[in-house]
Amino acid sequence: MGSGIAGLRAAVEAARVSNCKLRIAVISKLHVMRSHSVCAEGGTAAMLYPEKGDSFDLHAYDTIKGSDYLADQDAVEMFVRLAPREVILLDRWGLPWNRTEDGRLAQRPFGGHSYPRATFARDRTGFYEMQTLYDTLLRYEGECVDFFEEHFMTKLIVEDGHFKGFYVVDMKTQDHKLFLGKAGIMATGGLGRLYGYTTYSMTVTGDGLAAAYLAGIPLKDIEFVQFHPTGLVPSGILLTEGIRGEGGVLRNKNGERFMVKYAPTKKDLAPRDITSRSMVREIMDGRGFKGPRGLDYVLLDFGPIGREKTTARLPAMIELCRDFAGIDPRDEPVPVRPSAHYTMGGIHVDKYGRVPNVKGLWAAGEAGCVSIHGANRLGTNSTIECLVYGALTGEQAVRYVMSNNDSNSVQQEAIEEEATRISKLGEGEENPYQIRTELWDIMDHNVYVFRDEAGLMDALKIVKQLKERVGRVRVTDTARIYNEDLFRTLETINLVTLAEVVITGALARKESRGAHYRVDYPKRDDENWMKHTIARYTPKGPELNYIPVVVTKWQPEERKY
Ligand SMILES: Cc1cc2nc3c(=O)[nH]c(=O)nc-3n(C[C@H](O)[C@H](O)[C@H](O)COP(=O)(O)OP(=O)(O)OC[C@H]3O[C@@H](n4cnc5c(N)ncnc54)[C@H](O)[C@@H]3O)c2cc1C
Repeated sequence: MGSGIAGLRAAVEAARVSNCKLRIAVISKLHVMRSHSVCAEGGTAAMLYPEKGDSFDLHAYDTIKGSDYLADQDAVEMFVRLAPREVILLDRWGLPWNRTEDGRLAQRPFGGHSYPRATFARDRTGFYEMQTLYDTLLRYEGECVDFFEEHFMTKLIVEDGHFKGFYVVDMKTQDHKLFLGKAGIMATGGLGRLYGYTTYSMTVTGDGLAAAYLAGIPLKDIEFVQFHPTGLVPSGILLTEGIRGEGGVLRNKNGERFMVKYAPTKKDLAPRDITSRSMVREIMDGRGFKGPRGLDYVLLDFGPIGREKTTARLPAMIELCRDFAGIDPRDEPVPVRPSAHYTMGGIHVDKYGRVPNVKGLWAAGEAGCVSIHGANRLGTNSTIECLVYGALTGEQAVRYVMSNNDSNSVQQEAIEEEATRISKLGEGEENPYQIRTELWDIMDHNVYVFRDEAGLMDALKIVKQLKERVGRVRVTDTARIYNEDLFRTLETINLVTLAEVVITGALARKESRGAHYRVDYPKRDDENWMKHTIARYTPKGPELNYIPVVVTKWQPEERKY
């Protein structure tokens, strides 16, 4: 389910490992190449050059330290070892990686990495990865792979601890379809459109997370949402960390390169949580600029990169700055502020991407929470996680199906209930767009870079009201063909469902760790809180439990950069 980097990589692996002996459906509410993954810009992490000083342990340590010691270390150790193979496979399948003068794969520095290990294709890495995977998968189309584009999954069907299939609405015709399968992989991406000011595409609405949660599958660490430092004001669109990797710097109103003060060693390439907090601190202390709609900002200066290198290595960034801010970044600095960017939490899976207690179900990519990224993801570690876990889950799903002869059927009741739920959406009186706007407003203000008890309590109160109102929503468009109104409404329902889980988790976690910073609990508290949040659905609201973090060889220490 899903055709981003994780979904496509899973399908390629399933086709390869099964020798095309199984039927594989790639289902997506978008056209394949419209998936959010095409936006990935700066690079994909992998340890490629041990002879130059990089190592698996260094990549693992950077990831774990970056995660503020919430990542499961056994999973991270496995992940970094599987990463190089993925980068090399993409090279074999035709991805035009940037190269050094001697023809080897080039790598650039990225925030929180102690070695330049971001493999990249200019500043359009995700686009080229998607194109390469799609192209590779098309070789199997018609033989064992079928694409179902513009098919919207509304329900994940799990019965008696077994994955059964998906309830799906064909967006072109509004026909309701049931996809039964022996194995399923959730690769539906994150929940970033919970926020109004965000780097995410409009389509990233947490549908898969909501479907899993409502099917009784817990969500893990969902309170950890990453804010990327350089969202371009006023749209929030991302300017890659690769800009700072190439030499760009952040400056306040006085022209000072303020990151020198907050992270003396890593400076502008400190991890995202630290950089985002430093920027907001500068703004709060009066050293920022006044922006439109309260979007106060600091500046990102491309100057130190130089004109020629900016043109050669960051062409998409020049285009974005021109189109969305009317500025050529080679001539003047551009306005930026932290923008909601990544979902560290997700569907609770084990270190192989398996959903515990549900046979035949996996989750990969941003939809899943292994946890590799813990409380704060390092840049370039997501696309590689999509590749590594796409491959891992694709292979396991094939082996499971090939050794399993159970027939597959579902209870009729579950199907009828879903059909009724969707048909009733036309009957209420609440405007779903108004609800989404109110949701964005409260999330952007109260569940942002700095959080506190009072703000979170307010947010929870409002979201509970929205939850009640969203139950009485009205879809005004009655068209059957491409009824966008219906799908936007289904997405809004999902976002409201997830907002409650995010806020409840954030309220409960009385410490500051990674991207979750509580002004009223400013310290990390390993004694009480070095544990994963597990949120289970109940009709009254999420029920929280906690499970331990796996530590192998890196004991938690203070993060200094
Ligand atoms: C602007 C930007 C730049 C980034 N740059 C980098 C980078 O340089 N390096 C890096 O490592 N990471 C980067 N990231 C993060 C990275 O791009 C994402 O985390 C990653 O691509 C997610 O891939 P995915 O396959 O998990 O999900 P997605 O690409 O989001 O795909 C989700 C898929 O699920 C489908 N889907 C969702 N809901 C439904 C539904 N209800 N029914 C049917 N289908 C559904 C969608 O159609 C889509 O195909 C960046 C993120 C942003 C926003």
